[in-house]
Amino acid sequence: MKKFRGIFIKNDYEIGLLREANQIVALILDELEKLIKPGASTMELEETANELCAHYKVKPAFKGYQGFPYTLCCSVNDVVVHGFPTLERLKAGDILSIDMGVQYRGFFGDSAKTFAVGEISPEARMLMQVTLEALHKGIEQARPGNDLYEISAAIENHAKSHGCSIIKRFVGHGIGASLHEKPELPNFVPSRMSGTPLKKGMVLAIEPMFSLGSDQVQIMPDNWTARTKDGSLSAHFEHTVAVTKDGPDILSSLE
Ligand code: MG
Ligand code: MG
Repeated sequence: MKKFRGIFIKNDYEIGLLREANQIVALILDELEKLIKPGASTMELEETANELCAHYKVKPAFKGYQGFPYTLCCSVNDVVVHGFPTLERLKAGDILSIDMGVQYRGFFGDSAKTFAVGEISPEARMLMQVTLEALHKGIEQARPGNDLYEISAAIENHAKSHGCSIIKRFVGHGIGASLHEKPELPNFVPSRMSGTPLKKGMVLAIEPMFSLGSDQVQIMPDNWTARTKDGSLSAHFEHTVAVTKDGPDILSSLE
């Protein structure tokens, strides 16, 4: 595969495979959404996700990745990312972020969404809305000729203008024949002002994570579960996006 500054440039065939992988993730997230209600457990979602991976003949990408034990990351309320599925029952008012990745014919899909469980508070609704909007503001910048950090800036500005905090510990990433490739894609503009010019054929997982309070996380003794330090709610949305000559192409969207 061709590279530019260490970033793999995918051809149309490879982008086609990445699209197939990501469409399967999107289909699975849609199926899981139907099961999310008060009283359901995230372990039930995990079981369904495993059945759907078998059905679509894809390999769960997270299970076994650096020792992560499950197919899904299920992160409830103040858990930002990397939560484990559990037998605990979801309650009305919870927000649940599901992050899911698959490997299909050598290529990876990666997408995440935060879902409302029953009726949620206006603050939680606002946080979800702003995080999703920030994702799409970032995606809009994923075009040839733009700098990578224009994506970061769009996400950062949207968080700031709505009073949400950006969780800086976790970043987006390139994706292709590996789940995590160069470049790192922070949800804020780092102190060095320019990233790298975006080129046709780059594929990026763009994934803002915002909270209503602290921008700091603490990792639980399981070594994975990342909670906001002050227990504030957090949301996470992620799409895998190809940079094409016509602009961003969201590979993980069914629309
Ligand atoms: Mg993900
Ligand atoms: Mg990702």
